[in-house]
Amino acid sequence: MRDQAGVVIIGAGIVGCSAAYHLAMLGWTDVVVLEQGPLFRTGGSTSHAPGLMFQLNASRAVTRLARASAALYAALAADGEPAFSPVGSVEVATTPARLEEIRRKAGYAASWGLDAALISPRAAADLVPLLPADRLLGALHVPSDGVARAVGAAEALARRAEERGVAFHAHTPVIGVEVVGGRVRAVETPEGRVACDAVLLCAGIWGPRIGRMAGVPVPLSPVQHQYVRTAPLPALAGERREIAHPILRHQDRSLYFRQHGARYGIGSYRHEPLLVSVDDIPRHGHGHGERPEMPSVLPFTPEDFAPALDDAAALLPALRGVALDDAINGLFSFTPDGHALLGEAVAVRGFWVAEAIWVTHAGGAGQAIAEWMVEGAPSLDLREMDLNRFHPHAQAAPYVALRAAQQYREVYDIIHPHQSIEQPRNLRLSPFHRRLENLGAVFAESAGWERPRSFDANRPAAGDEERGRTGWAARHWSPASAVEHRAARERVALFDLTPFTKLEVSGAGAFAYLQHMAANDLNRPTGAVIYTPLLDERGGVVCDLTVTRLAAERFLVVTGGVSGPHDGAWLRYHAPVDGSVSIVDVTSALCCAGLWGPRARDVLRRVADADVSNAAFPYFTARPLTIAHTPALAVRVSYAGELGWELYAPMEYGLALWDALWAAGQPDGIAAAGTDALDSLRLEKGYRLAGVDLDTEHDPFAAGLGFAVRLGKGEFMGRAALLRVKERGPTRRLCAMTLAAPDAVVVGKEPVFAPTARGAALGYVTSASYGYTVRRGIAYAYLPVACAAPGTAVEIEYFGRRYGATVATEPLYDPWGTRPKG
Ligand code: FAD
Repeated sequence: MRDQAGVVIIGAGIVGCSAAYHLAMLGWTDVVVLEQGPLFRTGGSTSHAPGLMFQLNASRAVTRLARASAALYAALAADGEPAFSPVGSVEVATTPARLEEIRRKAGYAASWGLDAALISPRAAADLVPLLPADRLLGALHVPSDGVARAVGAAEALARRAEERGVAFHAHTPVIGVEVVGGRVRAVETPEGRVACDAVLLCAGIWGPRIGRMAGVPVPLSPVQHQYVRTAPLPALAGERREIAHPILRHQDRSLYFRQHGARYGIGSYRHEPLLVSVDDIPRHGHGHGERPEMPSVLPFTPEDFAPALDDAAALLPALRGVALDDAINGLFSFTPDGHALLGEAVAVRGFWVAEAIWVTHAGGAGQAIAEWMVEGAPSLDLREMDLNRFHPHAQAAPYVALRAAQQYREVYDIIHPHQSIEQPRNLRLSPFHRRLENLGAVFAESAGWERPRSFDANRPAAGDEERGRTGWAARHWSPASAVEHRAARERVALFDLTPFTKLEVSGAGAFAYLQHMAANDLNRPTGAVIYTPLLDERGGVVCDLTVTRLAAERFLVVTGGVSGPHDGAWLRYHAPVDGSVSIVDVTSALCCAGLWGPRARDVLRRVADADVSNAAFPYFTARPLTIAHTPALAVRVSYAGELGWELYAPMEYGLALWDALWAAGQPDGIAAAGTDALDSLRLEKGYRLAGVDLDTEHDPFAAGLGFAVRLGKGEFMGRAALLRVKERGPTRRLCAMTLAAPDAVVVGKEPVFAPTARGAALGYVTSASYGYTVRRGIAYAYLPVACAAPGTAVEIEYFGRRYGATVATEPLYDPWGTRPKG
């Protein structure tokens, strides 16, 4: 075995083989793949995966990875046959709620460009011969879904990688990872050490164990999952084809099915989650019972499967009373949020991870991670899967176990995008929490924080005009948010902004470094506040921040609570390593109250120890203030589009700060306001939300952030790419649309069409809400420039119904921006 390699890939399951193939295709052939078991049927999860591929996902990026995987496997041969059989899929609805859900999913499919159709019970029964039409209300048909031969695909990918020079070594477990000075240097095996520049972890359920060797948390839990194969079914007697029926999902009962010749395979998420500690997975060659070569297979527990069998037979009567030929509890990985783990550990350079990936996504995920390693960034925005997206509490074992179990339970559930997790709750409480509770806050969990969505204290009296919302958009919504919105527009509202991520960037090189990272010009005096996007080398928007210059070489950088770890990792990753810049997360040191509304100055004046007039304290500046007894940093910015301040104070003064502002606001009718009101306020102003309206697949000009880019300031990250974009001209632009029907509201991800057009969608909705001041449903979408002119008519499809909408001039409210500047 070689003692040196550019990249060592750990694990030769479908993910490791896919990554090896794609690295080789991109010209990186100095790659060694180490596998603890034999090659291809390694004993890992891939070895027993039945290979069903349902490509459609609520996440566009995940759907894209699945589509890339299907295309890749279809082009590979395994045992003389394509490694992918596009038999299509049928997802049945047996309840009205599921019927609504598949309508919504058909919308996702149109948004993501995947061909899918709602079909009648009869049509579903015609596609899947075992399915009686009278059990169904309807179904979703995705013709390009199908079945992958997972081991065959892995082997075919590995052979192609080998042809290009990649070396595969079986029976070579990695037993140590050498990290020196925050960089990977080598891996240890019983055969010796392999020095390397990079490690790519593709060890599936064993991933956390190897992560520990390098000091990198790999937050996933192995979970048992039941899959059985029936004895031959009389109904399929004589069937010679291995797979001809579409794959089938019965999500109301957490079941899926595929044909195996005359047998049927049944997979079940119906049982209570059965988690396994990564340290309890048997060693290779020491698997259970007759399967010593299958350490990822545990003994079947029939009692857990019994309800699933009943439900399976209730849907497919041909399965009634049938014996099981083969049944396993197989292990695979679940993460706290159900998404994969992709990327390089920011704390250990050269330690790359591609974990918690299904066969369905492994082809595309291998391509994405290879692109990322070779080219510095993947072409898809993968922030949902970013390895560095977790807060510290979310990487710890108790959280991972709790959330992984819940992800398993909910894998086929109907989840509302605004539905909050139930557990764990009350992890991070702002110092205002008691006051928020007293006002009847309806809390949602966000990055561990309890954030008020709205306040029951603000619920309008019965009969109020804003009470009407119906259906999906009415769930997890309160008419109180309309009242809170109006309080901010007409009087003054107080928001808890404590969950913002706050980073203090300082040191002799702080300005030069941030100036290089930011697209806007930070060369402003102390006390200036600058809004800026950060770009990647391709000119895509990584995130947007506000930067407050506290001193020549000291800055307060503020970003979102959820996106904080991702944005912070981006900043840390690119910071100089010579000690000239320090980045300290001060989130837990500082609370923050947002005081916004036309009377915000009147309120602040009553409790501040300094002049807060426009002349003394202009827009986009910051200064220290004492507010009653609280030392604070007041930053005059507004995500609501009204006059006001973000008021940062040491955490322990929080309650005093809130109480002082609350008391001072009484003459002006101050109201507490939640995140729903803020979302509506910011959409009327056209303020973008990172990760939703902004992503690395769009440049700041397309995103409408050209006003915050200073190409003339000198070199900065992404500038060269932006110059090319400028020359080429934009192809898409983020547009505001208003819905024609006065009470129509959409929630996000819906497809946008040209009027009456049946073909491909023009784009999909990024952010959406209702604008209580403009009295219209508002939606944003990237549209082709030809359709981006204000006045252009479009249609937004929501639960199968088309709603008329019009591209509007931005922003919808206060176009001259006079209100926050007053
Ligand atoms: P693995 O295939 O487990 O590969 C990891 C490899 O790393 C293993 O070969 C292991 O031996 C090796 N390794 C570990 N530690 C070391 C070490 N220290 N040194 C060297 N090598 C090491 N997905 C679908 O998309 N469709 C399905 O229908 C489907 N059905 C499933 C049914 C069941 C019952 C189960 C359990 C899973 C199913 N999955 C399915 C999920 C899918 O099987 C996995 O997500 C996927 O196979 C994971 O691939 P991987 O390459 O990451 O992991």
